[in-house]
Formats: sequence, structure tokens, C-alpha cells
Amino acid sequence: MSKPKYQRVILKLSGEALAGNEGFGINPPTIQEFVKELKAVHDLGVELAIVVGGGNIWRGQIGAQMGMERAQADYMGMLATVMNALALQDTLENAGVPTRVQTSIEMRQIAEPYIRRRAERHLEKGRVVIFAGGTGNPYFSTDTTAALRAAEINADVILMAKNNVDGVYSADPKLDAKAVKFDELTHLDVIAKGLQVMDSTASSLSMDNDIPLVVFNLNEPGNIQRAIMGENIGTTVRG
Ligand code: UDP
Repeated sequence: MSKPKYQRVILKLSGEALAGNEGFGINPPTIQEFVKELKAVHDLGVELAIVVGGGNIWRGQIGAQMGMERAQADYMGMLATVMNALALQDTLENAGVPTRVQTSIEMRQIAEPYIRRRAERHLEKGRVVIFAGGTGNPYFSTDTTAALRAAEINADVILMAKNNVDGVYSADPKLDAKAVKFDELTHLDVIAKGLQVMDSTASSLSMDNDIPLVVFNLNEPGNIQRAIMGENIGTTVRG
């Protein structure tokens, strides 16, 4: 069998990916489905770290729009990511995959604090590391967390798993029949054209640190493995 193209991978899972058809909250059967794929990738010996979002539970921006102080609302969002991380950890461990959750904000009774060198050690030992709590700072996103952690642990790629979107388009394909999908882009293209890939902070950080991204559809079974093997799925964004 051919070797995986990427050995150390950051997978960004949005909170929405854990919600199933309800679009809100945590749906264990949905998580069980893609954990099968994560197990297959883990069995290939790929070092896998996961950054989870929290948008299935709470988004700081929405709280702020409704009159809350933004920083306070953002801390709630960071806590939402921790709930998702625990659900993911539970499902992975039930499937026989060893894991560690590391939080950017200390909560030692339920997870380890984020320690970069320890995260790398876990990966070397074959544990899946789940990064929870975002960057630990309000006004940031879990996309930025993925770019930051990827730079810190020297990941080969960020896999941006999207819900029912199979790559980056010139416009929203649901609204514009002329929208075309890109196979390859640069980070600068993404920023200059204002394409919907990551927020601009995350894109700048990925560009400055030369971290490639693969944007692909999570809902197509087998896609996580295809992306890691280097198959041409979705859109690849490079430096
Ligand atoms: N958040 C934050 N700082 C971070 C990461 C996340 O304040 O470094 C908050 C922010 O309020 C955000 C929420 O956590 O709306 C959930 O994260 P995100 O929107 O990135 O989740 P996703 O869209 O991937 O589910």
C-alpha cells in the first residue's frame, strides 16, 4: 500500500460536524461515523491532532450581536469547544484509539493543559491529541487555533473538513450558478479574493508559516483518508 503523503496532520473539525442533521448540539451517532475514519487513519500510523470548534453550541459573535460583552461571549464559545472535545475523546476511546485532550485554558480535572512538547510526545506515542479551548483568547477562532497549533507542532498540513462543501469556490455555489471550484490556490489568493476558507487571521498565519491546507467535504465517506494519502480531493491551498 502507498505511504500517506502527510505524516503529522492537524484536522480542523467545526462544531457543526458533530451536530448531525439537527444542526445543533452533539449527536453521538454522527461522531461515531467519522471516528471510524479517524481510526483507519490512525491505524496507518499517521500522527493526528484535532482542533474542534464550538459553533454547534455557541458562537461569541452571536452573543455579542445580542448585547453581550464580546469577550465574555467568546469565553463561552471556548468552553463549548471543550464539551465537543470530550465527546470526541469518548467516541475515539470507545473505538480503541488512545487520546489526550489538551485545553488552552486550564481545567485539570477534565483534561491536560496545553503543553506543546507534551502534545508532540503524545503524537509520537501514537495518541490522538485533541486541542480544546481554541487559542484561549477571545476575538480568535478555532481556525486560527488550527493554524497556530499546526505551526507550533510542525504539522505537515491542516485538513479543513467542511460540512457538505467539497472545496473552495469562486462564489457561493448555492447562490451563484457560475461559481467554479478551485483545485489549487495560494494563501495570498484566498486573502486577496476574500474567499471563504478560514478567517483572515488564520489565513495570514498559515501563509506566514507556509502551512498547506486541504479543504474537503467531511460528509463523503473515506475523504479524511484520501486527503491524508494526497489524493486530489477538494482544494489545496499553499504558500
Ligand atoms: N473562540 C474564541 N477564541 C478562540 C477560539 C474560539 O473566542 O481562540 C470562541 C468564539 O466565540 C467562537 C467560538 O469559540 O465563536 C466557537 O469557535 P468557532 O466559531 O471557531 O467554532 P466552529 O465554527 O469551528 O464550530
